[in-house]
Amino acid sequence: LEEKLIQAQKMEAVGQLTGGIAHDFNNLLAVIQGNAEIVRENLEQGGEVSLAQVDTIIRAVMRGAELTQSMLAFSRKQNLRPRAFDVRPCIEGMAVILRRVLGEAVEVKTAFDDGLWDCLADQGKVENALLNLSINARDAMPEGGVLTLEARNAVLDNGDAARLRDLKPGDYVVLTVRDTGVGMTPEQLEHVFEPFYTTKEIGKGTGLGLSMVYGFARQSGGHVAIDSVPGRGTVVRLYLPVATPSA
Ligand code: ADP
Repeated sequence: LEEKLIQAQKMEAVGQLTGGIAHDFNNLLAVIQGNAEIVRENLEQGGEVSLAQVDTIIRAVMRGAELTQSMLAFSRKQNLRPRAFDVRPCIEGMAVILRRVLGEAVEVKTAFDDGLWDCLADQGKVENALLNLSINARDAMPEGGVLTLEARNAVLDNGDAARLRDLKPGDYVVLTVRDTGVGMTPEQLEHVFEPFYTTKEIGKGTGLGLSMVYGFARQSGGHVAIDSVPGRGTVVRLYLPVATPSA
């Protein structure tokens, strides 16, 4: 009986979650439809198309992608297709989009090591992870601030690797998402990787973003580490294995 009760509670939680996501998703579709119709009308009448309207559509699509991604992660149907690739163009492309959609209050910076190694990971999933982390950074800076995306080479010795939850020592590419936002307390930090842990209002967060990024990183042979100081900001480091490890 107890098992059935637990099962029923789980089903209820899943029902609430999917209901919430479907509701959010419908709202996003309404935003996309409304703005696309206005753009269409303007074009039809030979008028000007407003960039702001197109940006609103792109923002809604980004949020939609984030939502479906968290659902996929939740259903554990993550088929990873790892291959060797250079994260630099991928981060540079993302920075261009983020600068357009995050508004003037958020300054987006990038930094790279010279001779950056190729990493071995699923590129689409890496992009989703960066998007999730960037949206968290944006949410942590309601008054604006600086969002920095970095990629660096790192060689982990036995000690470093053990501190990062028994990662294998060796070569990694480290992607960093840094913000100057509200930060987190040590108590908050303890819970951030738990599914459904969120401090955002209903409809704004699912609490699945970081647990998904964490699951993806571990499955890829990497790790996620977070440093945060309340009132100062947060640094999230995503460790990914390199494509060609040195001997
Ligand atoms: P969600 O963003 O849907 O709440 P996440 O798993 O991505 O879910 O994040 C969980 C919680 O971790 C957030 O609600 C927030 O409290 C905290 N958090 C995540 N990223 C940051 C950040 N960059 N700065 C401050 N708090 C953060």
